[in-house]
Amino acid sequence: MSSGIQVERVCLYCNCKFIARTTKTRYCSHRCNSRHYKQVVKEEKIAASNIQSSAMGLLKTKVDFPELSGKPFLTINESSALLNVSPVTLRRWIKEGMIPTQQIGKKHIIKRADIDAMLAK
Ligand SMILES: [Zn+2]
Repeated sequence: MSSGIQVERVCLYCNCKFIARTTKTRYCSHRCNSRHYKQVVKEEKIAASNIQSSAMGLLKTKVDFPELSGKPFLTINESSALLNVSPVTLRRWIKEGMIPTQQIGKKHIIKRADIDAMLAK
């Protein structure tokens, strides 16, 4: 492809002007080429992971609730997910006596019916 032509181009990565030997050259140097390539790949990866995580977020809210509603007993984490509050908030509510729990060892077990009763108030 080296036909002896000389074209003035602007590097896609560093925006400096350079003389290209072929019309297809887009970078002033191999370094700019590989750096720009890495940057593009990185941006694509970030975009892909953003799409994936938002899809997973949607999936999670869809899947979690039917699963939890079938359970008669819930853990702190499950109950907080159900109530859409943080586990810390839920523990405070338990401490304040807003939700009755069964304590087994260090674990609080919350009856699904008690959550429904609390929400009905
Ligand atoms: Zn360059």
